[in-house]
Amino acid sequence: MAAKLIVQKYGGTSVGDVKRIEAVAERIISYAKKGHKLAVVVSAMGDTTDELIELSQKINPDPSDREMDMLISTGEQISSALLAMAIHKRGLEAISFTGSQVGIITDKYHTKARILKIETDRIKKELDSNKVVIVAGFQGKSIHSEITTLGRGGSDLSAVALAVALGADVCEIYTDVEGIYTADPRIVHDAKKLRYITFDEMLELAARGAQVMQTRAVEVGKKFNMPIYVRSSFSKKEGTIIMDKMPRIEEAVVRGVALAENEAKITVCDVPDKPGLAATIFTDLAKQNVNVDMIVQNVSHKKMTDISFTVPKATLTKSLKIARKISDKIGAGDVVYDENIAKVSVIGVGMRSQSGVAAKCFSSLADNKINIEMISTSEISISCVVKKDLGKDALRVLHKTFELDKIKG
Ligand code: ADP
Ligand code: ASP
Ligand code: MG
Repeated sequence: MAAKLIVQKYGGTSVGDVKRIEAVAERIISYAKKGHKLAVVVSAMGDTTDELIELSQKINPDPSDREMDMLISTGEQISSALLAMAIHKRGLEAISFTGSQVGIITDKYHTKARILKIETDRIKKELDSNKVVIVAGFQGKSIHSEITTLGRGGSDLSAVALAVALGADVCEIYTDVEGIYTADPRIVHDAKKLRYITFDEMLELAARGAQVMQTRAVEVGKKFNMPIYVRSSFSKKEGTIIMDKMPRIEEAVVRGVALAENEAKITVCDVPDKPGLAATIFTDLAKQNVNVDMIVQNVSHKKMTDISFTVPKATLTKSLKIARKISDKIGAGDVVYDENIAKVSVIGVGMRSQSGVAAKCFSSLADNKINIEMISTSEISISCVVKKDLGKDALRVLHKTFELDKIKG
């Protein structure tokens, strides 16, 4: 194999303890010895980021976003330095950098910053002097020279963006499963590993709860047509390539199912049935950066309607505050919420040209006595909100209904 420029990313479990870091160092060295140049992005060890967030909550339940970024960016600094040390011990040259040092420039929005550009000079210089470059994932430096982070799961984004900026030959995402499966293999035990998946399908899976890839990372991969190879850091087995088009002519209609348990439902009751009120509600939520997903307006009775919508649980308190204010303003009734919901989705680009998928999805849930509370569809997906304690069962039912256990991976 000709020498390549490879970007690799190792997730939290993959660098979770000393032994895992040593194993990652061995893998990197096996590539470097073949003459490849490597830029390696790492996540924080194990659950470090969650632990740092918990710690902040004990000090101040409403911390400033700037200080949150100062805090949670430290996890990746630890793992990157340790990995560099592990490589040094094995006699190879390596150098670790923070996102800021390496010139990952972002906008100013703390905890969810967007990458504006990556200055590659420093990395290229080190790569040219035959060092393995290790980059702390999940972080950058804002245009105002502040440390920023890229949203949860953001090391995936660091890796894909870096691969694009460097013009890498390969972008490999090493994680704790062997690739992208038809469903989360920890919930659906007969889920099948897919050899290929399109950017569009992966985007939909990620946006609907499959945390294996960060949605924004897949967006960048798609935008710049950078194929992403997802595989296990625990084995040498073949993984999944996320790419533009399927190499095969025909594929199964449904290619995956996903479960999201991190959303909550808010209902604004007794909204006067007048034009423009729904616009008022959702404009105000959007102005405050609340990501509204599904929306259902109930049948109007006595000139009143109930409007329900889902938001990420992390923004529930903020969303309720906004919704209650709007409800007062427009003369609507109570604002109630339900945190015990789950969203199940079926996904596949083949759905564009195939009818009957929705009907099959709804009837299989009904046959299993799973009540659907909300529905939304896109060109290539169908999502249903169900009671939280039925979410995993619903996922397994849909997986079976669409025979995903028999899919040609
Ligand atoms: P990392 O720490 O490597 O970034 P994550 O925990 O973010 O790893 O993502 C990997 C996890 O994603 C897996 O352990 C698996 O439980 C989950 N997952 C959810 N849906 C899927 C899917 N369709 N295919 C593979 N993994 C999935
Ligand atoms: N450590 C960060 C997180 O847990 C980023 C990542 O793992 O990708 O969200
Ligand atoms: Mg991740």
